[in-house]
Amino acid sequence: MIKTRAIVLHRFPYSDSSWIVKALTEETGTVSFIVKGGKRKDSPFRGALDPLALCEIVYRENPNTELQFLKEASVINWHAHLREDLLALAKAQVMAEIVLRYAPAGVPLEGEFSLLEEALAALDVPAGNAPEVKLPADSEVKLPARNAANNKSGVFARWLLDTCELWGYHLDMSSCSRCDHQIEGAPADFHPETGAFVCKNCLGVETPRARPETLAGFEALRTGRAIAHPEYVENALLAYLRSHIGFMREINSLKFLNETRKLYDRSR
Ligand SMILES: [Zn+2]
Repeated sequence: MIKTRAIVLHRFPYSDSSWIVKALTEETGTVSFIVKGGKRKDSPFRGALDPLALCEIVYRENPNTELQFLKEASVINWHAHLREDLLALAKAQVMAEIVLRYAPAGVPLEGEFSLLEEALAALDVPAGNAPEVKLPADSEVKLPARNAANNKSGVFARWLLDTCELWGYHLDMSSCSRCDHQIEGAPADFHPETGAFVCKNCLGVETPRARPETLAGFEALRTGRAIAHPEYVENALLAYLRSHIGFMREINSLKFLNETRKLYDRSR
């Protein structure tokens, strides 16, 4: 019998009363479950298996089937605040889908679990009460006083950066790819196909390919500050990840994220 914490990545109906649930477990990587009677109002699993919920599950591993039979599930954190924030929810869905589609199958994924758990927790805060943005371990930058309401701004970009690192596509935001010198302030350019950052000296009179918002976003990410327009740096990181693992069109939840971004843009 396996007892483990798990994050629900995806769920879809199976027959009138059952669910198929795909979860990222802390102990055994991604696992698919059949949850018989899960749709019923009196299901003992109710709430615990909602997408993006953090739960504790118990199941017996059957190596002969793709679909495991879930014995117990209880909710640890349903992420109620996350669900009230449409933009945070849309980003969380993209993270869950990327893990579901691109994390290696059949192996433990402790790194992926802790990154996703942290990101969901950071997005799951009431407006105006966000925790501090996480700095890279080697950062010497002191965090300035920041607008608490904006602190969720870097969570998705940071998760993308950490996921790139975890999957072997390290991005060095602090040095120039051409001259190897430390980049002061915002980089002068970024190439998502290669992950190369370019300093002002090396760029010279060339026109940068990256937008100013993207470059400012990378600087904010590097220094742990709130990001004014996080969608630019998020898209740059998605493009970088795509060029390494080859995806994008298949990420269904990206469409919802882009629609949501437009809504938020209009209301700004
Ligand atoms: Zn340079």
